[in-house]
Amino acid sequence: MSYCELCGHQTFEKKMVIVDGTVFNVCIACSKRGKPYVPPQIAVKKKKPLAVKPQKKIELADETILTPNFAKLIREARMKMGLTHEQLGMKMNEKAQLLKKFETGSLKPDEIFAKKLERYLGVKLYVSANSDEE
Ligand SMILES: [Zn+2]
Repeated sequence: MSYCELCGHQTFEKKMVIVDGTVFNVCIACSKRGKPYVPPQIAVKKKKPLAVKPQKKIELADETILTPNFAKLIREARMKMGLTHEQLGMKMNEKAQLLKKFETGSLKPDEIFAKKLERYLGVKLYVSANSDEE
């Protein structure tokens, strides 16, 4: 239970209205005397500044991202298998030139290619977008 700021009567349901540029909490009857007040949108990001996710890096809907380590992972996995770029490229039916670019980090594999690399090399290239925060 609270009181209308205009007529002073007790009221269950209050409305915020603007009367002469001032916001009042008023009863339903008094609300007709002013314009409906719409509270300004308070910035939500203020609440948890540390949990801001790098939106730009998210490439999949399920919030996994290509690991920043992908170049190193691909190179190491390929070397462990004792394959050259050409041999791996042949196995995967892809261009060795592309593999070289991924390994230098000058090119990012797209999702399909990355999944293929994961399968052939047995590495994990997609990681949860917020895994490094937990
Ligand atoms: Zn009132």
